[in-house]
Amino acid sequence: MQTYAYGYPRLGRKREYKTLIEGFWAGKIQEAELVAGLEALEAERLETYRRFVDRFPVGELSLYDPMLDTALILGLYPNGGRLEDYFALARGEKALELTKWFNTNYHYLVPEIPFAGGQPPTFRVAWNKPLEAFQKFPDGLPYVIGPYTFLRLSKGYPPEAFGVLFRALIPAYAELFRALKAAGAPMIHVDEPAWVTDVPPEHVALIREAYTALGREAELLVFTYYDSVDFLEQLYDLPLRGIGLDLIHGAENLETLRRAGFPSDKILIAGIVDGRNVWKTDLRKAARQVEALRQWTSAGIWISNAGPLYHLPVTVEVETRLDPALQERIAFAAERLKELSLLKTLLTEGETEAVRRWNAPVHPIDHWHRPEVQERVRRLRPEDFSRELPYAARSRQQRERLSLPLFPTTTIGSFPQTEDLRRARTAYRAGKLPEAEYEALIRERIRYVIQIQEELGLDVLVHGEFERSDMVEFFAELLEGFAITQHGWILSYGTRVYRPPILYGDVHRPRPMTLKEITYAQSLTAKPVKGMLTGPVTMLAWSYIREDIPVHEVAFQLALAIQDEVRDLEAAGIRVIQIDEPAFRERAPLKRRRWPEYFDWAVKAFRLASRARPETQIHTHMCYSEFNEIIEYIDALDADVISIEATRSRGEVIHAFEHHRYERQIGPGVYDVHSPAVPTPESMEAIIERAIRVIPPENIWVNPDCGLKTRRWEEVIPSLRNMVSAARRLRERHGAAVPTP
Ligand code: GLN
Ligand code: ZN
Repeated sequence: MQTYAYGYPRLGRKREYKTLIEGFWAGKIQEAELVAGLEALEAERLETYRRFVDRFPVGELSLYDPMLDTALILGLYPNGGRLEDYFALARGEKALELTKWFNTNYHYLVPEIPFAGGQPPTFRVAWNKPLEAFQKFPDGLPYVIGPYTFLRLSKGYPPEAFGVLFRALIPAYAELFRALKAAGAPMIHVDEPAWVTDVPPEHVALIREAYTALGREAELLVFTYYDSVDFLEQLYDLPLRGIGLDLIHGAENLETLRRAGFPSDKILIAGIVDGRNVWKTDLRKAARQVEALRQWTSAGIWISNAGPLYHLPVTVEVETRLDPALQERIAFAAERLKELSLLKTLLTEGETEAVRRWNAPVHPIDHWHRPEVQERVRRLRPEDFSRELPYAARSRQQRERLSLPLFPTTTIGSFPQTEDLRRARTAYRAGKLPEAEYEALIRERIRYVIQIQEELGLDVLVHGEFERSDMVEFFAELLEGFAITQHGWILSYGTRVYRPPILYGDVHRPRPMTLKEITYAQSLTAKPVKGMLTGPVTMLAWSYIREDIPVHEVAFQLALAIQDEVRDLEAAGIRVIQIDEPAFRERAPLKRRRWPEYFDWAVKAFRLASRARPETQIHTHMCYSEFNEIIEYIDALDADVISIEATRSRGEVIHAFEHHRYERQIGPGVYDVHSPAVPTPESMEAIIERAIRVIPPENIWVNPDCGLKTRRWEEVIPSLRNMVSAARRLRERHGAAVPTP
């Protein structure tokens, strides 16, 4: 019995990773200092592994993203080893696209495979990063992302070229593995999480072919996680040294193991402590699980984490303000390592005092529960998930009430969060700035942003979200049932971090959450101001959530709290309310067969949250463009208006709305908020013109792709000015042709 762990956070206890790299970008430290700092951080990270587990990978550390590293390892981009070149690919003008890593909120850089003229590029080992790491730390196993995952997550080639490209990759991987073996690596850690997606049979054949060859080059441990492997049995005769399986998020793996066993010539690496959620492992239950595995196979078993640990903050130890009942029930990355060592103790020596103490909380949790909230969810009936009138009837009422022009303009919600504002919030939170002063500052910003929007001539205004640090954390702080950590940061991409709240109890809204700011903004203008809320699915997707009740109940509790806010906003005269759901698509299960179940509750939760009066216009926003597969679920949300990302595809996303008759209103984003560039009116008109081929002009809104919070005022003002003038020109061009409703 051995313990193995991987994916331990690179961020560092005090977010040293972020400080170092951003310090280098800002010119505050030089390259030598950056390199030395990161080496110290990595040494500390490995030391943590050594303290708790028997084996671990080396070379996981990345300056920005492991997928980019893999592209460089394989020679996809010229790499002279200069940091500037690396960071140019990560965040320069021509940086690679960022996208979500599987169904997580980590974003990776998407490599682009050059595939001109149908010829695969020649892949070769251009940078032996795993070897460098192994030579420095020979007690770990070199880490690489495997060829299947690498190619599946890259872009720039047609689907039918997959086989050719995949085969072209294999010699480079063979070369890589050979070099590692020659350097004395006893085994290699190969990450293949893409094996848990829906893998078509012809890909299974390719995987078998590739690993039959690669397994002869070195001893490979192939890791899968986030779900089960549908073709697990077809891996059994491959020359692999071991297979890592997620036994927490991949329950079907257990069924396969029970039914088909596991080959005795391989190591079964059992992912048994959760890398995605924070609840402590029940060690006795986990031990029984391992005992069951032993019944099913005589293979050697290593126990490990299920999913990389970087989805968790570094350690619970540094938290000093959590409810003690919560503190003693949760585990972050460091505690997961400890659990593995305790589990090993339990399995080899039996129940020691330390094992006993781990699962023996002393503080009760009655105060986490609210019978009235549970009761409210239990009493929900089908009509609670529907608005009173169908869309067509509602939209007539709303149009009359709002009397907006054709191609109405609006923004997604946030306006620039400037440094002074962030400083003021920090001071306010630390008790160094009086509440009255902080609120006065927020009001001043709201006044300013309303005035600016009026001057620009926007039609539906927003209050700017200046009081919010983060769209989930803001609401989690105001709702009961959520805890906010002090130091629980995790990486979202690059050096960008966020702090997922912990949803531990029944959700209750003690008082209105957004009323003060929204009504203040509305009092300053005759134009409609949009109420701005975060939807139930996103609240849940970007938090750690309780597991003692089904996920749909968690979603409905959140939805009811949001619905109460909607009602309060309506009562206060707010005519338009936006409920953001950027995580709606990402939270979908990796396997298509589980989609209906997920979308059923996700759609219901949104409908419950947005059950407004017919005359209230409900908007939703999603910052992506892959709608082809989910369009019917989008429609089922029954929102009146949806704003989406559309600039990067120049409006081609509208394709999705072509085949499915979409009768609601839609705002294809015309302004790429991820770029500092100021878009021209012409470029924005072109996107709308593309949309008009599919969507009737009277259903089209003009808005940016996403919130403007990370942009600077100097970019935002001219961009919005151009956006408004694009809308005006569109009105001139199309106005006459549009029937007045
Ligand atoms: N209303 C939010 C904002 O404008 C939406 C952010 C998002 O979609 N991620 O910032
Ligand atoms: Zn967005």
